[in-house]
Amino acid sequence: MDGTVNQEKICWKLLGYTTGREAPNGTSGRSVFSKAPYSANRRPEARSLRAPSSLIIGGGIVGLATARQLLLKHPGTRVTVLEKEEAPGQHQTGHNSGVLHCGLYYTPGSLKAQLAVEGIREMSEFCTKNDIPHEICGKLVVATNEAEVSRMNNLYERGLANGLTGLRKLCREEMLEIEPHIGGIAALKVPQEGIVNYEAVVCALVKEIESLGGQVITNAKVTGLIEGNQWTVETQAGDFDAKWIINCAGLHCDRVNQLTGQKRDLRIIPFRGEYYKLKEESQYLVNHLIYPVPNPEFPFLGVHFTRLINGGIEAGPNAVLAFAREGYRKTNVNPYDLFDAITYPGLWRFAVKYPKMCLHELRSSLSKNFFCKQLQKLVPAVQPEDLITGGAGVRAQAMSPEGGLVQDFHFARGNNTLHVLNAPSPAATASLAIGSEIVNQIEF
Ligand SMILES: Cc1cc2nc3c(=O)[nH]c(=O)nc-3n(C[C@H](O)[C@H](O)[C@H](O)COP(=O)(O)OP(=O)(O)OC[C@H]3O[C@@H](n4cnc5c(N)ncnc54)[C@H](O)[C@@H]3O)c2cc1C
Repeated sequence: MDGTVNQEKICWKLLGYTTGREAPNGTSGRSVFSKAPYSANRRPEARSLRAPSSLIIGGGIVGLATARQLLLKHPGTRVTVLEKEEAPGQHQTGHNSGVLHCGLYYTPGSLKAQLAVEGIREMSEFCTKNDIPHEICGKLVVATNEAEVSRMNNLYERGLANGLTGLRKLCREEMLEIEPHIGGIAALKVPQEGIVNYEAVVCALVKEIESLGGQVITNAKVTGLIEGNQWTVETQAGDFDAKWIINCAGLHCDRVNQLTGQKRDLRIIPFRGEYYKLKEESQYLVNHLIYPVPNPEFPFLGVHFTRLINGGIEAGPNAVLAFAREGYRKTNVNPYDLFDAITYPGLWRFAVKYPKMCLHELRSSLSKNFFCKQLQKLVPAVQPEDLITGGAGVRAQAMSPEGGLVQDFHFARGNNTLHVLNAPSPAATASLAIGSEIVNQIEF
């Protein structure tokens, strides 16, 4: 584990960042990137000599992948990524489970299905080329009763329809050969699923963008967008002009969309996902990835066990309303974000439609024993004493005014603008494919 983190530290130093384990806002989040000054002498160049022809708002994995793809498809074009934090990849990208999702869950024909299947292939190739730690270790999806077996069978069909290969339904004896401590009565083996270090992916993307002539400017929160002959973008680092604006602002994408004069038809509702870690002496309980059969009505997969590429096993994440869009702790409250969420009729309609699910997730956040009970369905031997509090991430989940969670990736086009308005999991896996999709949708 230390070896990889050191590798990242060296990499970030070369890029002009410093590193640490602090997350933004001094939280206990899970990003390996810390706040660090970006080389300030690049900014004047950005503003005068090289007015960019496309500006990407948001230096998460989707914004960076899009910048890379723009530079690959249109060599010589001026591409700048504007990131509000002091280093890229500080929010969803730096706080996720580190899983490479291969496309099992998603409705055949949906953007998620297409881009996850294509995305995992591209991401694996990218990791191999850039020496990024990753492993296609496979996972088991566990059914614990007959109703779940039937849903598991539907998943199997869905996986086949999405073009996955090697899927196998396992009986109890076969499950035990792979995961000797697993519970449940049947499982689906998904051999194409994997794990990766997304922080290292971000690092490699920034390096490639810079080597292709693009730039990533940090401490550059976008505060205004003014339409004229071209777009003028007001940021904390000064103003920039661009022909094209691509909004990849993650948890703030709906607000950035609003800056272009659009109505906020969809609203980002922040759902925090909390993790525990298995103590070192309990890690023998899990070999690879163990997932439950998810409820098809929700885009969240249910708490699961994930082996991390840098070592250790995580359990989670649940899904509870965060009182701040970047609220990695239960106690983080941003009055503006909270007001924005609770005055949205969609959220109340959602709570009325799914009260059981809301209470269940809330309970799992408040009670370690209850959280552990969910995990015991997957691995009966796990006990609350085996778990230590881990970090958390916040999902940017778009919700409709009717209270529906938008399931698919969602892009919206405006006047020389493209807005990524819903890019939840598996958008990290699919980021390179999402970048290609975005670049195909814009014309210079
Ligand atoms: C708990 C959790 C677990 C997950 N697990 C997985 C997984 O295992 N596998 C997987 O594939 N996906 C997973 N995901 C989903 C995945 O992490 C996200 O879909 C992906 O990281 C989205 O990337 P992004 O670039 O759109 O958003 P982000 O990473 O959030 O990046 C958006 C960026 O925009 C910046 N920004 C916002 N507003 C402004 C502004 N006004 N000006 C300038 N910059 C701005 C932010 O600072 C941020 O850096 C998980 C997500 C969470 C939260």
